[in-house]
Amino acid sequence: MTDSLRLLLGAAAPEQATTISDLARALGLLWACPCTYENTDAEDACGKCGTPRATAYDPDPGTEYAYPLSDYARETARVLGLKKGWGAESGYIGAYGLIWGPGVPTLRLYVDHDDDLVLRAQDDPFAFPHVIELRDGAPGTPEELRAVAERIASVIRLAYT
Ligand SMILES: [Zn+2]
Repeated sequence: MTDSLRLLLGAAAPEQATTISDLARALGLLWACPCTYENTDAEDACGKCGTPRATAYDPDPGTEYAYPLSDYARETARVLGLKKGWGAESGYIGAYGLIWGPGVPTLRLYVDHDDDLVLRAQDDPFAFPHVIELRDGAPGTPEELRAVAERIASVIRLAYT
């Protein structure tokens, strides 16, 4: 069977078979299961072990990251107390947020060049940045957003008040 397939595909030597299956995979005619079994494009699960065909991660818009950083900043100001004089403002298209409060310099909440979420005095580029650890990743629900804001608020209380 394999030999006749080889002949059909025009490969004279067995070592060419690898090249042909690579080509077939590149064209989307075959997909390789992690168990190494080659499946045709028509199969949604591996014909040998039954593993479902992996599909590319492709989240709908607005579902992967529910909140821009400006929402983190605004929620933090709510945690610290709007009536106590805390406030927040959105940075450009929500990519960062500004937070201010009584006796505290305006703080910028943003992602730095090391991909850390940091808080730093807005008007002092040499000020020490405080890293905010997101243990559970980006918040996806109002409750998770509040939990992140409480972490940011506690950093502000410790470092700036
Ligand atoms: Zn398999």
